[in-house]
Amino acid sequence: MLFSEKNNERKKFFSLLEKEVANAEKTGQILNLLLIKLSRLRNINQEFGYDFSDRLLNNVYKKISNVLRKTDHIARVSDKEFALILTDTHGPGDAILFTNQIMALFDNALTLDKQSLKIKLATGIACYPDHADDYLSLMKCADNAVYKACNSLEDYVVYDGSIDADTITMFALEGELEKAINNGDIEYYYQPKVYLNDHTISGLEVLARWHNEKYGNVRPDIFIEAAEKSGLITQLTIDCLGKSLKKYAEVKQKCKFNGTLSVNLSAKILNNQEITERVINTVNIWCDNPEDLVLEITEGAIMTDPETARNTLIKLHETGIKISIDDFGTGYSSLSYLKQLPVDELKVDKSFIMDLLDNKDDILITQSVIDLAHNFGLLAVAEGIESEEIMNELRKMKCDIAQGYYISKPMPPDQLIPWLNDWQTHQAVQKT
Ligand code: C2E
Ligand code: CA
Ligand code: CA
Repeated sequence: MLFSEKNNERKKFFSLLEKEVANAEKTGQILNLLLIKLSRLRNINQEFGYDFSDRLLNNVYKKISNVLRKTDHIARVSDKEFALILTDTHGPGDAILFTNQIMALFDNALTLDKQSLKIKLATGIACYPDHADDYLSLMKCADNAVYKACNSLEDYVVYDGSIDADTITMFALEGELEKAINNGDIEYYYQPKVYLNDHTISGLEVLARWHNEKYGNVRPDIFIEAAEKSGLITQLTIDCLGKSLKKYAEVKQKCKFNGTLSVNLSAKILNNQEITERVINTVNIWCDNPEDLVLEITEGAIMTDPETARNTLIKLHETGIKISIDDFGTGYSSLSYLKQLPVDELKVDKSFIMDLLDNKDDILITQSVIDLAHNFGLLAVAEGIESEEIMNELRKMKCDIAQGYYISKPMPPDQLIPWLNDWQTHQAVQKT
């Protein structure tokens, strides 16, 4: 199923839930909402690929659908999650009985493409009117409960008002995030990268920042995941490209700067041709020279659906845009596959760089990635450099480009031009 189709299913499910809650209110009935997640999906994705796990989830979906009553509903509300509405029940007890029935369906391993897999589900249960009296709050309760189930050894968790009512759940976050994107509240910070041989600036990486009144500063990996789940990632990526390319044009005009601009691209964009077209259109609007733009894509994102990823990368690369493989060393790409990709840069994951001097394995891995990049004619970038010693070591290892707090933390747009001017002045003084 395509991402956009899942998104439609999600929207349809929400309006159905709204209707069923209104109906329960009118008739005085009790309704249960269940959110069910498949555990270990990330490992399954990595081992068997995105298409395999998608079909696996569809099989799980069908099996559960078969035991539902005609008056109940099921929908796939995200890549790894189903939602179920059980109408006219006696309360959460019915939902627990039903959850046990579902778990029994997967006592035996499920077979797909001759692979036999043990399915483990985590379920969150919320009940109308016990836990909430409107459909949005009910969804938040179920989301809260499934979050708890996923982080515990329990197969299911019934929402309990006392459990982390203030925990940020994905669902609650999505609503806030949508408002933030529409109001233009997502900010973009810039972190410089420098060449290790002469310390001139090679480029800037754009990193999204979100401060929310209720939740404070929300970590980018958390809100990016919420954006991916809810379909907001397209809007966020377009917003990021538009604003950062505009800032980049200003920097080029006001500073002596001819580095590149690196923007992170999520797996969701990479694996959807239609969205990729929108990305290319946005670049054409804001960028005179697509070769100035680098799109950073994680190795993991490429490996979720390698065939689609390769086709999309070819399309992007044909426009002149450069491609960087981010967090390199953490995924499972093979050399033969890598050779087929139009890639310009490998970025060693910061987990190998941060303890570089104290860990022989990290040195070996980093040196291998640098050599691999050079053998393929690519640039090697190291991120997460926090000390001069690590910077010097990487120079000895012939790494090309450095990025990290030692050079600069990501900075807000208004500090960028003064910082770049300072850095360049400092470099000029050192040379004299
Ligand atoms: P990433 O692309 O691997 O970005 C590098 C992360 O390392 C950033 O975290 C950066 O602030 C941090 N970092 C840089 N130098 C150092 C250092 O010396 N020490 C330490 N400890 N950390 C360093 P950040 O900004 O929290 O972003 C986390 C992740 O969120 C990013 O990882 C990226 O995957 C994602 N992300 C951020 N902005 C965007 C965006 O606009 N779009 C997408 N799709 N993803 C984004
Ligand atoms: Ca990155
Ligand atoms: Ca990275």
